[in-house]
Amino acid sequence: MRFHVLTLFPEMIAQGLGYSVLGRAEQRGQLHFHMVDIRDYTQDRHGKVDDSPYGGGAGMLMQAQPVYDAYRSVAAEYESRGGGKIRTVYVTPQGKTFTQRMARELAREEELVFLCGHYEGVDERVLEEIVTDYVSLGDYVLTGGELPAMVMIDAIARLVPGVLHNGESAETESFSGSLLEYPQYSRPEIWRGRPVPEVLLSGDHKRIRDWRLERSVERTRQRRPDLYERYRIRQGFIERFSRQKRRYIHLTELLCRDMAWEECRGENSLLLRVEDTRTYALYAESSEEAERLLAEQGAKLFGKEEGMDLLVCGEEIRDFLVIKYGLVSGDACYQACYTRREPLRVRHRDIRPLTAEALEYVVRRYPAPGRAYIEGRIQAGAVFGIYTEGIEPYPSGFIGLHEDGSMGMLYVEEDCRGQGLASSLEGWLINRHLRRGETPYCRVGETNIAALGLQEKLGLCLCGDLMWRLREKKQPACGK
Ligand code: SAM
Repeated sequence: MRFHVLTLFPEMIAQGLGYSVLGRAEQRGQLHFHMVDIRDYTQDRHGKVDDSPYGGGAGMLMQAQPVYDAYRSVAAEYESRGGGKIRTVYVTPQGKTFTQRMARELAREEELVFLCGHYEGVDERVLEEIVTDYVSLGDYVLTGGELPAMVMIDAIARLVPGVLHNGESAETESFSGSLLEYPQYSRPEIWRGRPVPEVLLSGDHKRIRDWRLERSVERTRQRRPDLYERYRIRQGFIERFSRQKRRYIHLTELLCRDMAWEECRGENSLLLRVEDTRTYALYAESSEEAERLLAEQGAKLFGKEEGMDLLVCGEEIRDFLVIKYGLVSGDACYQACYTRREPLRVRHRDIRPLTAEALEYVVRRYPAPGRAYIEGRIQAGAVFGIYTEGIEPYPSGFIGLHEDGSMGMLYVEEDCRGQGLASSLEGWLINRHLRRGETPYCRVGETNIAALGLQEKLGLCLCGDLMWRLREKKQPACGK
């Protein structure tokens, strides 16, 4: 991932980012930090980049021209490589507060520009022209944007796949779920008379997991009541969904994996939006509940947003949404989930994430969800190829994870069928979920006999109720 930083103090940023994890990732070529000295772009003979604000007032303002030209030096190069408008973050106390969620979202970009202000800030006209995101570090004022940019770059860069050696560590720490991280201990076993909690020395992984969760909940309750309240409400829904586990497995997993945010909530209803996507999942006990829930937001959300997808259970609710919001219903499907804890035996083991070079290969074989969707999934490291001897560099088949975390996109080359590759692919993905403590699930078309048979063979439980994917009218009604 490439970070371009527009600043008056390039050495300060280069120094700050050149050490430890990020410094090593830069040496390995996983990260690239490009400092652009705004002063190099001024047309002023004396190297001036600031002037007093029109209308009077304290302090100086960074002028539009040098900032714009510094930005263009990056943007022009990006555009010459086929990029569109490059995502540009202005760090400012007037922006949205930076969060871990924002860091996750920004980490999906390949390139980012950060603009660091100084003095009293930057001429508004250039901001209007170049900035895509206004982001604040918090409700206080610093002397310049260099420290906020470094903080944000650090938080984003460590989420780039491969930057942290142990990929798991970014997944278990504070804010990656809705809880703060549990307390941790290292050698010696007793320090100043204080022993390490006995459970951590027990070697009993289940007890350790339970203890850590308990401590996380308690710590969040004490230190961050706001986060704890959100966690409590979510747990209430998770308990409710677990009474009809197969029917609502998608909602349970979205909440447990912390992949979605609440658009709106009622006592017996909930609308989730999968993080940074246009995929929604609705839970309502009846069409009346759905109507009440969506009374305010429904018209704003549905029927207008291109590429919108809405997952619903219950025929009556589906019909209500189709009539009320003019949505188009895709084919009916069943959900299937793997509820056992023991991993499956996987015969073919050479299974790896596909990279951007495989895009055409996948799109040709699996065109339904559209090129942009598949590109996004590959970029997210969520499409996996299976390799058998002699066929490299192409895989013999692939499987993927949809935006909502369900398994899908399963394909095996025609001349490789009948060798158990589909079972290996799905079994491998199921085991990957199990290692992360997740319940693997998928959706299968009502009439897709081969796929239904595969689920049965692998031991997944089928839900007896149908569900639907609703789409905005202008979209082609193809299933993902
Ligand atoms: N006059 C500006 C205002 O009231 O919003 C504050 C300017 S501040 C002194 C100079 C620069 O520091 C800003 O342009 C911005 O880039 C950066 N900055 C200061 N506080 C920040 C914060 N909380 N988050 C992000 N950037 C900040």
